[in-house]
Amino acid sequence: MTAKPVTFVLNTHWHFDHTGGNESFGKSGSIIVAHDNVRRRMDSEQLIEFLGMKTKPSPKAALPVITFSADTTFHLNGEEIHAYHAPRAHTDGDSVVLFRGSNVVHMGDIYFNGMYPFIDTSSGGTVDGVIAAADRVLAIADDRTKIIPGHGPLSNKAELKAYRDMLESVSGRIRQLIKDGRKLEEIVEAKPTADFDEKWGKGFIPPAKFAEMLTRNLLRGGK
Ligand SMILES: [Zn+2]
Repeated sequence: MTAKPVTFVLNTHWHFDHTGGNESFGKSGSIIVAHDNVRRRMDSEQLIEFLGMKTKPSPKAALPVITFSADTTFHLNGEEIHAYHAPRAHTDGDSVVLFRGSNVVHMGDIYFNGMYPFIDTSSGGTVDGVIAAADRVLAIADDRTKIIPGHGPLSNKAELKAYRDMLESVSGRIRQLIKDGRKLEEIVEAKPTADFDEKWGKGFIPPAKFAEMLTRNLLRGGK
């Protein structure tokens, strides 16, 4: 939001809709920063299984040039901006970004506000990691904190709490159905999201798809 050149670009994760501007930024001299796994995935061919989407390795100019494993801090505009890795959440390379002076948090695609989220199992994401990442933000947020989701409108602590509680309820139900020996199709048919669909089911991922996605996630990567 400036006419000045962009000095730093921080990718919250590797997905194309969050890194698609990298090549232009990289060529115009921006320094691209991200978690180690963002560069690793962008540097090789990827398959997002749930979407059946293959992506080719990114051109060199698009790759992050500074990567970190746990966290990093920017000291810019008189503010501390802390980016830290949220393990195995939406993917295996998510960062949460805290703008400490402004009381703003950017959660990338760990947070889809007002709709069922996509959790990319084939990129190392887990529903438990998403819940854990939400809990870490909830622990430091106050009622004035602005929380920026990867998709959906600007948000706040109360809405983030409702999101993590929805994820805990639905994943808990599916976990129980798996324990009871139900098959994938039976779990989807049981409509484990039913009472949440009115509020969360009208977005990118419809209810049945979300139940399928979470079941596959819990069977594969999640605990
Ligand atoms: Zn994403």
